[in-house]
Amino acid sequence: MTTLVIGNYSDIDHAALTRTFDPVFIAGPGDLAGLPADTRAAVRAVCYKGHAKFDGSAMDLLPALGLIANFGVGYDAIDVTAATARGVKVTNTPDVLNDDVADLAVGMLLSQVREMEQASAWARSGHWAAKGEYRLNRKFSGGKVGIVGLGRIGREIADRLAAFKMEMHYYARSEKQTPGWTYHADPVSLAAAVDYLVVALVGGASTEKFVSKDMIDALGPRGIIVNISRGTTIDEAALLDALETGRIGGAALDVFLNEPNIDPRFYALDNVVIQPHQGSGTVETRAAMGQLQRDNVSAFLAGQPLLTAVN
Ligand code: NAP
Repeated sequence: MTTLVIGNYSDIDHAALTRTFDPVFIAGPGDLAGLPADTRAAVRAVCYKGHAKFDGSAMDLLPALGLIANFGVGYDAIDVTAATARGVKVTNTPDVLNDDVADLAVGMLLSQVREMEQASAWARSGHWAAKGEYRLNRKFSGGKVGIVGLGRIGREIADRLAAFKMEMHYYARSEKQTPGWTYHADPVSLAAAVDYLVVALVGGASTEKFVSKDMIDALGPRGIIVNISRGTTIDEAALLDALETGRIGGAALDVFLNEPNIDPRFYALDNVVIQPHQGSGTVETRAAMGQLQRDNVSAFLAGQPLLTAVN
């Protein structure tokens, strides 16, 4: 019985995977076909990490496959429908990363509103000494914020922003228990009601371009969008247009279409905070994600209930 590890792992995770499963390692699903047929036939569990598609045709190369354990809470790269149809279970790593992603979202929004990157450049370039104080910017505390997707991470973001005395609004498919925050069943009405939109939706086909041109226009020229979900959840062409023409105030983005080869138009914009998809990227959280991934595989191989199954 073989465990197959797909993706690039930290040295710590690589060592722990080797110790625990003595697995076969490959870089991506594209390398599957190159494995010897007897190796593929022995694979019962896959540890998966990455954003390349893991579809039914890849699963068919592993006829004894029973589990795909994803490294990450977002499993939109894995075709779960195809997995279910083949009797393959899928697990993810929820909750252990909520704090880091929420911290980064708040930091990105604060950085954007208080122009921290531009102000830093002002000081570093010598303008502070030569030309004087940096320009006045905008008060952060007490703003109006709309969370698009009040799930696990969205809730952590909301709790943090509520501590900044913000007026809280949110969209989800159903109303949640909150301390009196305003629910919007219509995402355009949410965008029209707030200064800042923070997107914390799941990725995948069901939320593709969920943040539409209409939402962006409803947010308006003083509005700022933060995205820590997936590049797919925003109509990126509409966002770029709105940023370039000033129909929206700014954006703070950790995720993009075609990462890491993002649209170069973003680099020309000084009203965008750009992060290289590092929401969960701390030593502590990546260790916890790796542990949860391995714990799911160990449970599966021992015939025990999975810890965090998604199908
Ligand atoms: P979650 O608890 O499942 O919350 C997801 C939210 O998306 C919920 O509010 C849910 O609405 C909403 N949603 C799901 N399907 C929808 C649909 N078809 N239409 C509209 N809304 C929909 O997920 P989570 O743990 O918070 O994670 C959210 C996402 O964050 C992940 O899927 C991943 O893509 C992303 N993420 C990014 C990073 C990073 O490094 N930037 C790190 C971790 C995760 P309901 O409440 O109505 O169900």
